[in-house]
Amino acid sequence: MRGDPEVHELIAASSLPEVLAQLGSAPGMWMPIAGGTELMVAHAAGRLNTPKLISVWGLPELGFIRVSDDCISIGGGVTFGQIRRHAAIAADFPLLSRAASWIGSIANQNRATLAGNIVNGSPAADAPPALLVYDAEIELISQRGSRRLPYSHFHLGYKQSVLEPDELVLALHLPRRFAKHAQYLRKVGTRKAMAITKVALAGTAVVDDGIVAEIRLAAASVADRPVRMTAAETALLGKKLSFETRRAVRKALLNEVRPIDDIRSTAEYRRHVAANLLDEFLNELTREGSSV
Ligand SMILES: Cc1cc2nc3c(=O)[nH]c(=O)nc-3n(C[C@H](O)[C@H](O)[C@H](O)COP(=O)(O)OP(=O)(O)OC[C@H]3O[C@@H](n4cnc5c(N)ncnc54)[C@H](O)[C@@H]3O)c2cc1C
Repeated sequence: MRGDPEVHELIAASSLPEVLAQLGSAPGMWMPIAGGTELMVAHAAGRLNTPKLISVWGLPELGFIRVSDDCISIGGGVTFGQIRRHAAIAADFPLLSRAASWIGSIANQNRATLAGNIVNGSPAADAPPALLVYDAEIELISQRGSRRLPYSHFHLGYKQSVLEPDELVLALHLPRRFAKHAQYLRKVGTRKAMAITKVALAGTAVVDDGIVAEIRLAAASVADRPVRMTAAETALLGKKLSFETRRAVRKALLNEVRPIDDIRSTAEYRRHVAANLLDEFLNELTREGSSV
């Protein structure tokens, strides 16, 4: 049933301290709303249970992209439209740029924010696999101060995270050290646009003289949250890309993924597509061989 706008209160904050004070005054009572592309859908479906909303849309303190020598920091309020148009992000983090270009439609990308994508916590969201294979750090802020942790530690389970009710996502920090890595991202969906991911796999790797010297793998829609594929990584690290290694890695991945059956796909299909995407990435690494 459609939500009733009468039961909701919405305030628009003019500064970050104002938002933090409001969130801190009654933790759990107020919910931040940024682009609203998740929350307005929830409202329309009668699933928006928090009556009090505080808008963080357009706050300059969340809307920055900062490029330094060793890092690009992206404010939580930055939209996917801004991300896909940013030259330094496209150059250093092409997987994030590409993921941004897949999110909904252009209109959607102009409202959808990075923090909203992460905090919503969908296992199928497009940004998380890229953030995971780039070793992103997430910075959270409240009136109590700020804290920074590996993004891989943020999600705890289905729509569960370490975010406290009085905290906001201030920024994502991406270390600029992937220029020489082989990089891979593929999303399998029903269509090329406006499609929720059935399975996605991202990877960054360094192969040195035929040996896998560095490997990061992350996937969407194969577990209750966006995940790093650590068992598959372990099966690859320090190994030659031989037939035996590839067989062991495929097996590790198939044991590691925990997808579900839903209206978009079956768990079985997701498992096998995830393994096939991994094969595709390993084919690329094998082709590029020691030049990577
Ligand atoms: C038509 C359509 C198509 C879509 N297609 C895709 C797609 O292809 N891929 C995909 O991944 N997603 C897709 N989405 C989902 C959505 O657009 C994204 O998840 C978007 O990034 C959410 O950002 P938002 O700013 O709109 O979040 P909001 O709806 O404003 O908020 C979502 C959640 O994030 C919280 N939040 C927002 N900002 C902060 C912050 N700074 N700190 C703490 N919490 C915060 C809110 O409290 C809420 O819990 C689609 C949505 C629609 C409606």
